[in-house]
Amino acid sequence: MVTSKIPHATAKRLPIYYRYLHFLSDAGKQRISSTELADAVKVDSATIRRDFSYFGALGKRGYGYDVDSLLAFFKKTLNQDQLTNVALIGVGNLGHALLNYNFHQSNNVRISAAFDINQDITGTIQSSVPVYDMADMKEQLTVQQIEIVILTVPSSVAQKVTNELVDVGIKGILNFTPLRITVPNTVRVQNVDLTNELQTLIYFLNKFGDKDETL
Ligand code: ATP
Repeated sequence: MVTSKIPHATAKRLPIYYRYLHFLSDAGKQRISSTELADAVKVDSATIRRDFSYFGALGKRGYGYDVDSLLAFFKKTLNQDQLTNVALIGVGNLGHALLNYNFHQSNNVRISAAFDINQDITGTIQSSVPVYDMADMKEQLTVQQIEIVILTVPSSVAQKVTNELVDVGIKGILNFTPLRITVPNTVRVQNVDLTNELQTLIYFLNKFGDKDETL
């Protein structure tokens, strides 16, 4: 079973395994060795075995992994058998892009509500998602049982909005603002700093050329 002791790096690889197993299952493949899996997902087989070991013995020596039972296991672990509604706070340029994107390649997660303070946009529907006033946030999140939000407000208000989110009981925040927000330890934050990622890429390319031997 999944416990909070699973390393972050392992948790981040689970969707990669899941997607590939899905592909194998659709292609009618019934089993896969850890070496084959390693080649396909570009994660070394020792890491795969260690990742899987956190969930108990999922493979059999000399047989490899049974694709469908592994897939069923990951589906449950990753909550892929249910739809998760998330909300987006701050419908600016980036917010708009994410609403438009709306995770179409996944059947299991979607943005079902957006919030803003700008009266020009509240009460409208953007990319099929209703935009509510921040004043209606608590009510809408409760009605729609939303526990996860995507934060795309300006950095200057990111902490203030985070405090409001914490007050209404949000459990997870995907933070697209460059600000490192402070939350109580009952709330989980995942930071996505696009500028930082791009600068890191530029740094590595400048320093090591197109092959980074250190990764
Ligand atoms: P970006 O590209 O970062 O989205 P932008 O220039 O389009 O930038 P920002 O000024 O970053 O817009 O604001 C993003 C959105 O956040 C705007 O639609 C703005 O109205 C909204 N916003 C600002 N303050 C708040 C707040 N306190 N609560 C909710 N939404 C807010």
